[in-house]
Amino acid sequence: MNANEILRSIIVLLTAGSIVAAVSTAAASDEGHAAADQVTEESYRYFLGDNQGVEGILYTHAGDNRGFGPEHDPARDNIAAHFESYGLSVALEPFMYYGDTYYNVVATQLGSIYPDQEYIVGGHYDSVDNPGADDNASGVALVLEAARILSQYDSDYTIRFIGFDREEQGLIGSQAYVDDHYTDDILGMISTDMVAYNNGSNSADINGRNASNTLKYALADAVDTYGDGLSYSIGGQADYSDHAPFEWAGFQACILIEDWGNPYYHTQNDNVDMPGYIDHAYAVRMTRSIVGYLVDNAGVQVPGPCPGDIDGDQDTDQADLGILVADWGCSGGDCPGDLDGDGDTDQSDLGILLADWGCGT
Ligand SMILES: [Zn+2]
Repeated sequence: MNANEILRSIIVLLTAGSIVAAVSTAAASDEGHAAADQVTEESYRYFLGDNQGVEGILYTHAGDNRGFGPEHDPARDNIAAHFESYGLSVALEPFMYYGDTYYNVVATQLGSIYPDQEYIVGGHYDSVDNPGADDNASGVALVLEAARILSQYDSDYTIRFIGFDREEQGLIGSQAYVDDHYTDDILGMISTDMVAYNNGSNSADINGRNASNTLKYALADAVDTYGDGLSYSIGGQADYSDHAPFEWAGFQACILIEDWGNPYYHTQNDNVDMPGYIDHAYAVRMTRSIVGYLVDNAGVQVPGPCPGDIDGDQDTDQADLGILVADWGCSGGDCPGDLDGDGDTDQSDLGILLADWGCGT
């Protein structure tokens, strides 16, 4: 195949815009999967801890106390340190409660195209003077895992990862955040609160007012697409977690929470040492859903696999074109340039390569 043929092919492709369109439509979902697949149970256990020797960084073992106890401040500092280690800019935003100062931990991934428009995912790190493994170290571990993965990439919109404080006293920290940021352009806020106790239904609840339906249904789509078999049910107004102050202020907001039935809710038994209690794999499915949601909605630029990458070096460039051209006309299978897998190297393979030109470079 000579240069003129390549040129003719490019013209064919430009007129057959459908090929290019088909490739770019698939991209969003590919990117979501590429990010969601990076959520690992090992990493989640690193944050949350378990009863098999993983300490965790959120103090979730029997006897720990992130309420007004000694583990509260170290947990907060661990959250901030991990956000910082991912290169995010971190602020401890103070608020007062009964004469004492407390802090929301706010990590920001600034949008490269729409820095003033933002998505928020947050969970409260305080507990009811108990280890609070499920309520709510589980939701904070989700936020940390999402931050670990998404912070590697550019995002079109700003994403804020937040650990709220003093939720258990009446949404004090999240209300303070909204009071300080009510002029921000918040496109969607999701509270992740109790995501690691699976009552056997393998289902998540997505709750919020009808005014937040756009967000709720987009999140449900993400559960469907990225939740690895997690199911969901959508409910209405649920003013018991940190999304509520955002809804009261007129923002789209909802909660992602386990299907109800945790027998150790607000007890000392809400700790990772309880045998058979925490379902890390279920929490991973919750986390995958949030990661996929953010990729698709905040426009996170996750490099997916390059469909035109023949030589396996993660890009589609001159070297791949050279292989395809050298293989041009090959048929009967075993053709190196056969990108669409139909047993020959022809126009359609060249189309895939050209539509993917520059991927990964
Ligand atoms: Zn909670």
